Amino acid sequence: MSSSSIHADPPPPVVTEASGISYVTGSALGKGGFAICHRAERYDSNRPTGQIVALKIVKSQMEPKKLEQKFVTELQIHSKLTHPNIVTFYRAFSFQTSTYVVLELCSNGSLADMLKKRRYLTLPEIRRLVIQVCGAVKYLHHRHIVHRDLKTGNLFLDHNMNVKVGDFGLAALLVTEREMEVRRRTTMCGTPNYLAPEILEKGKGHDEKVDLWAIGVIAYTLAVGKAPFHASTKEEIYKKLRSGTYTWPELSATTNQSADLRDLVSSLLVPEEQRPLPDMIVSHQFFRVAYVPERIPETAKEKPPVWP
Ligand code: ADP
Repeated sequence: MSSSSIHADPPPPVVTEASGISYVTGSALGKGGFAICHRAERYDSNRPTGQIVALKIVKSQMEPKKLEQKFVTELQIHSKLTHPNIVTFYRAFSFQTSTYVVLELCSNGSLADMLKKRRYLTLPEIRRLVIQVCGAVKYLHHRHIVHRDLKTGNLFLDHNMNVKVGDFGLAALLVTEREMEVRRRTTMCGTPNYLAPEILEKGKGHDEKVDLWAIGVIAYTLAVGKAPFHASTKEEIYKKLRSGTYTWPELSATTNQSADLRDLVSSLLVPEEQRPLPDMIVSHQFFRVAYVPERIPETAKEKPPVWP
């Protein structure tokens, strides 16, 4: 979301933690359902540290129950994670009437922002981005954490254009294998476009496999510019999801596909028990015989990079 579309009260110019660490707030980064996010510089003992962070500000006027629920899960889960492709959680504190979360700054916005400008990405970009998402998902699943809301809007880009998975508001912690069965989630959540079909089945829970489905949806979306089960209403999306059918647009100048990418996506958009795990995903042909760039230039936010 661009800062020009944010209509929220500006945060106080200085926000101070009980420990004395303070943050001098700067420009707006974005606005979500529960929070606004601003750039901020950390000050220690009134001295600037040069560390620029993302300060997520959660207003306490919001419905307290909802807020509390969202926040407690997000903090509990997020504060334990350390991975190069997951937004680093630094701390959370309250100041005056708001709650603040201090996060690693992702200065290049989200993949959703990038798609808005570019419509679709080149195959080398998709390879690099999907590999990074798979690394983060492998890390999470190894710890029995299901993100449950993987989508281009929750995949942020740092100053080096590396992916950082963020927004752990819906993540579920599935503690042990045995508990996993007991705890299989039955609640409806997630953005409809990225929902795995098993979530629609009443009474059937869902687990890590929903994130693998979402990786398939993300790969398709990065290449085509819209989600495979895209429709104008929720109901239509559900109908498409239930039927499990999606189509690829004609190969043309307006999309960016290859037979290998189509095959990768089709291996992921299948019933849950058939979906490949992150390690298997990245060993797919799509990533093996073709070019995977070591970095994506910042100019890629605006226009397609020229690859060798
Ligand atoms: P919510 O949980 O309310 O949906 P988000 O976590 O999506 O809030 O954050 C709202 C917006 O703030 C995002 O869409 C994004 O534009 C921006 N944002 C969030 N986290 C970061 C970050 N770490 N770095 C830069 N911008 C961020």
